[in-house]
Amino acid sequence: MRAGAGLALTLVVAGALLVVPTAGAQNEVPADPGDLRVEAGVAPGTGAGDPRPGEAFADPQVADLQRTATDVQAELGELAGRVEAAEAELGTATAQLQHATAERLEAEAQLNAIRGEADQFAKSVFTSLGRPDNVRLLFSATNASDLLNGKSMVDHLRAGQDARLGSALDRQRRAVEAEGAAAGAEKTAAERKTELDSRTGDAANRADAVSSELRGPIDAANAAVVEQQKAQRDRNSQTASNWKAYTDRLAAAGIRPPTAAALADPARLPAGLRPLMGSGGPQAGVAESSVDGQRILVLPKETIDAVTAGIGALGKPYVPEDGGEGPVAYSCDGLVRSVFSGAGLPLPAAAGEQMAAGKPVPLADAQPGDLVFVGPAKYGVQSVGVVLDGRTMLAADARLAGVVVADMPAGDSVLGVARPALGQRPAAEVPQRGENELTWRCGGVEVPPAAPGTDQAAGAWGGFPNGLIPAGALCPVGIGAHVLRCDAAQTFAALSEAFAGTFGRPLCVTDSYRTFAGQVDLYRRKPALAAVPGTSNHGWGLAVDMCGGVQSFGTPEYGWLAANARSFGWVNPGWAQPGRGREEPWHWEFAGR
Ligand SMILES: [Zn+2]
Repeated sequence: MRAGAGLALTLVVAGALLVVPTAGAQNEVPADPGDLRVEAGVAPGTGAGDPRPGEAFADPQVADLQRTATDVQAELGELAGRVEAAEAELGTATAQLQHATAERLEAEAQLNAIRGEADQFAKSVFTSLGRPDNVRLLFSATNASDLLNGKSMVDHLRAGQDARLGSALDRQRRAVEAEGAAAGAEKTAAERKTELDSRTGDAANRADAVSSELRGPIDAANAAVVEQQKAQRDRNSQTASNWKAYTDRLAAAGIRPPTAAALADPARLPAGLRPLMGSGGPQAGVAESSVDGQRILVLPKETIDAVTAGIGALGKPYVPEDGGEGPVAYSCDGLVRSVFSGAGLPLPAAAGEQMAAGKPVPLADAQPGDLVFVGPAKYGVQSVGVVLDGRTMLAADARLAGVVVADMPAGDSVLGVARPALGQRPAAEVPQRGENELTWRCGGVEVPPAAPGTDQAAGAWGGFPNGLIPAGALCPVGIGAHVLRCDAAQTFAALSEAFAGTFGRPLCVTDSYRTFAGQVDLYRRKPALAAVPGTSNHGWGLAVDMCGGVQSFGTPEYGWLAANARSFGWVNPGWAQPGRGREEPWHWEFAGR
């Protein structure tokens, strides 16, 4: 590793002195170049890109358990919808049975009345030998002509009563049959509901079990996240102070960094500067000088400004979208474009275009401020960072969900290095993402915002478990202290502004990102309403609960959102709609535009 002058001059930014002895004093270089480096620790998860979405970098066991919990949660949601349908079916069957019973009782009453009447008639005709009077004639006749056609009164009345008796018997028989069928249907519906209730109970028990099983691993993962965040902050700030020491040293020596143009030709450098040797001879776009008998790397002013801006962005959150040029949140290529364009070296927008148009330099010659394009090649050029020294780079990292100092990837994961100070070239061919390969942007798998085939947010992103996303990785929505994933926060803010245009006030938010502990607490208090801990889209920073009218279906506020939120990427998911067993008009998720 120590061969070559290029390495000896490597600017060890991530925690080391920036000066090495002059070429004439090579024997004074410490035997171990590591002595010069004060690494603040390797950020977990940056070494090997884990292509599985939602994988907990701190503890795969947590990811496994959260997946189990998510399956149970999905099962519970599906069952809730079926229980609701079964309840409605049972209600209908019960009403039909009641109706059939009433009809049967009425038919019986009618039959009894006619029987009583027949008994009375028989009594009057055959027992007391009396003649039917006109009132009873009227009562019994089935039509007026019967009264007038001169038939025997008694025959007429008997025939009329037989016919009425027959039809009453018919009605009663049909009513009994209908009642039997309705009772059968009700029994079936009741059995179906009982079965679904028992399956729901079973799933709820499994949800409780996985929740308590998660407790230990979550505590451990949380401790690891906290520790990782602290190590990352230390590493970031150590790097920032080293960079400042470098620029301070240049200033103290009276070296004003020349422009990129002035360093373009190593054979014609400004006075006091010497060419920096690389693997193929003198390098363009950089130089060296001497301060107090020690060599110092001299970078172009534009490069120094760009790296300084990048250092200033350390700790800002990552935003999973193509723009991502800050100032609140960055994507990897957005960060690079923003800091270099701001320093007067314009770059294309996407990492692939940046590599295609960038003037390449060998990896061995990489200097601070060079761009490093990160693979593997099968995913194409989807990630880019700014070289800080031979081992570290500055990048907006999807898995660490922020702008960080990270390790340079190993060997063949580096697809190429380009030096923005050398300007652009006509676009060259660069690795493209293979067919059916993952979208692996900025070091993390990017899943489409909406879950396929559903009307809700997709959930898992980044390298942190659900509910353990560090505060610094989320963006404020501008309402209270509420935070969300940065792209969700940005679109929600825009949605709220549009809402205010109609209602004269911003959207009212009661809940947004919810920690794992918060989910456990809610689940304990409202088990029927709350998602199984570790499965809520609140825990991914992709859901809000709203107030101010939105909490009820049918209000003008809800109606406005139902009509307009989708174009901002926000939906009231299908499971929260009426008739699905878990009505939540207040709960909205970011499903992407
Ligand atoms: Zn909610």
